[in-house]
Amino acid sequence: MRLEDLDKSRVREEFIGACLEDLKWIGLDWDGPPSFQSDREQELRETAESLVSEDLAYPCICTRREIRAAISAPHAEDEASTYPGTCKGRFRSIQEAQESSGRQPSLRFQCPPEEIEIQDRLHGQLKLSPWTEFGDFVIVSPEGHASYQLAVVLDDAAQGITEVLRGDDLLSSCGPQAVLQRALGLKRPEWIHVPLVLDYTGERLAKRTDGLSIRAIREAGISPERLLGWLLSESGLSEEHEISAQAAIRSFDLEVLNRSPIRLPEDFLETLA
Ligand SMILES: [Zn+2]
Repeated sequence: MRLEDLDKSRVREEFIGACLEDLKWIGLDWDGPPSFQSDREQELRETAESLVSEDLAYPCICTRREIRAAISAPHAEDEASTYPGTCKGRFRSIQEAQESSGRQPSLRFQCPPEEIEIQDRLHGQLKLSPWTEFGDFVIVSPEGHASYQLAVVLDDAAQGITEVLRGDDLLSSCGPQAVLQRALGLKRPEWIHVPLVLDYTGERLAKRTDGLSIRAIREAGISPERLLGWLLSESGLSEEHEISAQAAIRSFDLEVLNRSPIRLPEDFLETLA
């Protein structure tokens, strides 16, 4: 297991512990001790710098606000912000950008202005246009942290990940990831983007909007088996009222998985009680 901890402003020791505790409570396990994306920061940064030397990326001294958005995983509710290419061809090296601006530059990948075809096991063949959607996206922030897109691509490759199953709010991220994989000579994983669980208003469950957490469910006295039973029946995967994670693995089948998001009822905790 690798924990994504590059957004330092949001990473806290107690969150890491709570996250692992939630997974264990629900019955999900993993091989070996957890590792951290930040352990490989130096390596990630060096790869980004090598892309600059190959003229596939360039330093940018523009404001931090848009760079903020690039460090966290871009989810559907984030406003799309396409970088206008202000710093493209402006500096000959990272050092020159530093010296002329007196600031630490970020590094941006030169996104090719073309459509990229990708394959997703649930969505089939898709044409994405990372250039239109993201422009020359950030791969290293001014603080020296690798962006979500770069870190995911390099981490998956380093760990030999061949299948990526994640929420379909990240479907558009396949665009930047595919162009990075091509530039770095890395193989694409098989992508499987599944529908999300949404709150009763139809919003993604997120910490930043104080969405319902596993902890709140646990503290309401609901068992993990009951939670899984409800989720699996809503997903079309099982009809059991209560089911353990171990048993749920046996009934997991992408072919029958519902293709629409699950919306939690407003009285979710009472529904499960
Ligand atoms: Zn710039």
